[in-house]
Amino acid sequence: FHVKIGFIGLGIMGRPMAKNLLKAGHELVVYDVVRTNVETLTAAGATAADSSREVAQQCRVIITMLPNSPHVKAAVLGENGVLEGAQQGTILVDMSSIAPLASQEICEACAQKGVRMIDAPVSGGEPKAVDGTIAIMVGGDRAVYEEVKDLLLVMGSSAVWCGGIGAGNTTKLANQVIVALNIAAVSEAYLLAKKAGVDPRLVFEAIRGGLAGSTVMEAKTPMILSRDFKPGFRIDLHIKDLANALETGHSVGAPLPLTASVMEMLQTLHADGCGSDDHSGIAKYYEKVAGA
Ligand code: NAD
Repeated sequence: FHVKIGFIGLGIMGRPMAKNLLKAGHELVVYDVVRTNVETLTAAGATAADSSREVAQQCRVIITMLPNSPHVKAAVLGENGVLEGAQQGTILVDMSSIAPLASQEICEACAQKGVRMIDAPVSGGEPKAVDGTIAIMVGGDRAVYEEVKDLLLVMGSSAVWCGGIGAGNTTKLANQVIVALNIAAVSEAYLLAKKAGVDPRLVFEAIRGGLAGSTVMEAKTPMILSRDFKPGFRIDLHIKDLANALETGHSVGAPLPLTASVMEMLQTLHADGCGSDDHSGIAKYYEKVAGA
């Protein structure tokens, strides 16, 4: 790419992703509503813009990495947003985890202005964003994806095209359902063992190599056993994702009873002031209800 790349949303994930693009030699124009986040990137060699509109005026490829659907709508469709400044043919790559339906709505509005959008949410968290090894799941026009694939692979170690617009976010929701339910399953099993007088540490050692073992079990067991719930991935972000999953489930007729149960646990934890804990804090829900 010999074009300037726009990057909007320089939070926990966006900052390291943008830095990796700079390191790979790309010219970057950046914007975030939080000034200090912009300054981190200008210190690393990026050019600052004063709005998403200004980013769009200067760039033919724009990446957004924002919290949720309303933020992406504001940055793209809103006042001083991308669509006020974008030229025909511009590619918008939304890497935020948002509702698939919102991706479809935003894509449609973009198309009316000649802007081509794909959704490309990620999994992996901050360490993998820093290493450039996040997993990227893509939805939208396949030809547009092919145009930006090499750029995506600067930030991630894999990119998989999953279908039409919104399919990346549908895939991300599937990922978030599996992770949340798996953390709850591990926490529930450890509580059973503890209450029955068996040390969960020994349970972990005994079963991690068998069918019950999982990446979630490996990553989250140390946090659960040491009761270190520093994020990582915040409970409040997982509530956002499960809310999008349940809403999507309702609209397509997919019953999600297990997701609904874990959502109740997460909301209880949020109400209890634990929304900023890592999602492995689901273990605390079990402690609370069991008095463990
Ligand atoms: P974050 O809250 O740290 O960063 C979001 C950034 O967007 C903030 O800097 C905020 O100031 C900025 N912002 C909000 N509204 C804006 C607007 N209208 N215009 C410009 N900037 C705006 O969030 P994050 O952890 O970087 O996550 C971003 C997305 O990636 C989320 O959808 C999240 O679910 C997803 N994600 C996060 C992780 C993780 O481990 N943190 C992992 C995978 C995916």
